[in-house]
Amino acid sequence: MNFHILTLFPEMVESGLSESIIGRARENGSISVETVNIRDFSEDKHKKVDDYLYGGGAGLLMQAQPVYDAHRSVLEKTGDKCVRTIYLTPQGRTFCQEMAEELAQEEDLIFLCGHYEGIDERVLEEIVTDYVSLGDFVLTGGELPAMVMIDAISRLVPGVLHNDISTAEESFSGYLLEYPQYSRPELWHDKPVPEALLSGDHKKIRQWRLEASIERTRKRRPDLYARYEHIMQCRDRLLKDKLQHIDMLELIHRGRAKMLFTGEEGTLLKDKDNGNYMLTAISKEAGEIILDTVFGVSDRGPEKVSAGIRFITHQEFLNEVVCNRFGFSHVKGYYPYTYTRHEAISKRKTDDPRELEEIDFINQVLKQGGIPFLYVSQEDSAAIKRQEKLGLYRAKEKIWQLM
Ligand code: SAM
Repeated sequence: MNFHILTLFPEMVESGLSESIIGRARENGSISVETVNIRDFSEDKHKKVDDYLYGGGAGLLMQAQPVYDAHRSVLEKTGDKCVRTIYLTPQGRTFCQEMAEELAQEEDLIFLCGHYEGIDERVLEEIVTDYVSLGDFVLTGGELPAMVMIDAISRLVPGVLHNDISTAEESFSGYLLEYPQYSRPELWHDKPVPEALLSGDHKKIRQWRLEASIERTRKRRPDLYARYEHIMQCRDRLLKDKLQHIDMLELIHRGRAKMLFTGEEGTLLKDKDNGNYMLTAISKEAGEIILDTVFGVSDRGPEKVSAGIRFITHQEFLNEVVCNRFGFSHVKGYYPYTYTRHEAISKRKTDDPRELEEIDFINQVLKQGGIPFLYVSQEDSAAIKRQEKLGLYRAKEKIWQLM
């Protein structure tokens, strides 16, 4: 992942992003950080980049030309005309974990840091794709917010965090804050470490952590807790037909589900990992209502389907509705096999290269905090046997992949 930062203060950004985990990630090539000094593109003989405001008012404004040329210099290097360009501004959408997850899917990102009173509106109109704020306060420049965003996004890029540190159980990943954590000694200031954590019983520990997370979220962040309750209602609906929705349930369970709709009509989830959608509905009409609500009538809703994205439907009668709406023509039915455990599969003695391949695939996906799904055709009896041997759950009915 490549970050390009357009700034008047490159040293500030360089020094802030060269230490610790981010510094090491730059060294090992998981991420790259390039700072571009906007001043280098000034056509003024004194390298001036700001001027007074038309119409009067206090302060100075960064001018359009140097910002535009600095931005062009990055596009020339990346060879891509539509790299997402983020302007840090108190007038933008507030940055959050979900946004970090979405941005972590990009290959390149450009950050534009304002200073003084901000930047001439005309260049913003031409180059900015996203307006992002760090919160409802005003800072002196966009450098600190850019560094904060790069830090949060980088942690989600494979290879940045140490292999055994998963981001899947952290605050926000499943709408819950992280549970309290303890290290040695067992007793400090008369405060013991909670007993369950010393038990060595993984099930008990997981249960204690979940309850502590729920309690903490309810007390500290009632807004987040309300979202958690909502997704639990969705989970309870899906549990009524567990085997048919095992893939959707697992998405929720691992904190990878963005819930777009849940109600009597059905449920629509988005896989935060790969952007694919999963839809289940009680009827064709109900499916239409869900799609209208989420994507808007004539696709003008808040959610947009990006190119190359797949739709997984859980009932065949939904296929026509989805295909017509998004212009899909490729429909394939599968029985999905889902790996619901958290532990990696140890490589047992096997001569079957396909089995080894599948074990590698499952372990790799787990390592990256994802959910291992395998879509197996019912005609492939050898593949079915392998999935059963590896302990994967098979859905009760076929599901459909549309693209
Ligand atoms: N006059 C601008 C306004 O009222 O929207 C504020 C300009 S601020 C003093 C200077 C620069 O700091 C902005 O151009 C922006 O890049 C950055 N900045 C300030 N507060 C920010 C925030 N909360 N989030 C992101 N960037 C911020």
